[in-house]
Amino acid sequence: MQRERTPPRHFLSSGLSRRALLGGLAALPFAARAATASGTAPVIVATTGMIADLARTLTGGPVQALMGPGMDPHSYRPTRSDILALSRADILLHHGLHLEAQFTDILAELAPKKTVLAVAESIPKDLLLSDPAYTDRPDPHVWFDPTLWQHAGKAVAATLTQAGFDTAATSEGFAATATALDAYARDTLATVPEQARVLVTAHDAFEYFGRAYGWQVEGIQGISTDSEAGLARIAELVDLLVTRDIQAVFVESSVSDRAMQALIEGAAARDHYVAIGGELFSDAMGPDTTYEGTWPGMIDHNITTIARALGGTAPERGMQGKLNAGT
Ligand code: ZN
Repeated sequence: MQRERTPPRHFLSSGLSRRALLGGLAALPFAARAATASGTAPVIVATTGMIADLARTLTGGPVQALMGPGMDPHSYRPTRSDILALSRADILLHHGLHLEAQFTDILAELAPKKTVLAVAESIPKDLLLSDPAYTDRPDPHVWFDPTLWQHAGKAVAATLTQAGFDTAATSEGFAATATALDAYARDTLATVPEQARVLVTAHDAFEYFGRAYGWQVEGIQGISTDSEAGLARIAELVDLLVTRDIQAVFVESSVSDRAMQALIEGAAARDHYVAIGGELFSDAMGPDTTYEGTWPGMIDHNITTIARALGGTAPERGMQGKLNAGT
């Protein structure tokens, strides 16, 4: 009978898996593991390293990230092997909020056949800022505010739980890490003299950071040093550096530093020395297998680097003494 063979759709999409429905107690989720019909754990693929790290933390198992260190998610195009990995996976975790613009088509194509989650789109809309470059869109760089990334953690945990993973303990652990990072950021960044709480970076990735910790954030990507408007903007920023006595600006590996050099030279011409305060991780994490190659490590690195370069105090090796340990 049709009615017995095919449970109503809402049953299948609830917390009960098909196996739980058919097999009763024997098919309840295994501890921190899950199984597909073939008996193997569901394969999880994530677009960005930050999301893959989150899913690894929650499952304790391997999760492939399509974008590695130093890759720019705004412009990254899926390769043939990425498409293959996506089509073989059971669970696809992507950021959403227009971050991975080149993945729209492939994700739409796979959505009916897979579990697909736009991780950042789980964050309540009223907590999102608008994108400085496209004001009709939300700013996607939510991972710089640990309290926002906690929402992402909850959404990923819910999806993984539905797929049979037991994330009760790991999601508590993740929430504790995010809370500790937020507290470290708050305490450490407050040691920077108030007038110097200005973050001048290459691209507009740090607006959420600025909002969370009360910092002024200035991104310089897109400023042309060849145009009059660009030069006026450089002059305005030089003025900010000099009058607020800002000692450092920050670079990012993926963005050209020509405008940054113009800033430093402009300040020097007014007898104000500005250093490159270090390289920040913006849209990708550090090298694989290092602490900086994890989300907590990337955030710890940024906070510690910013505080130390701008006259604050922070332990050289960060919140947990793990920074700069190499591989
Ligand atoms: Zn970005």
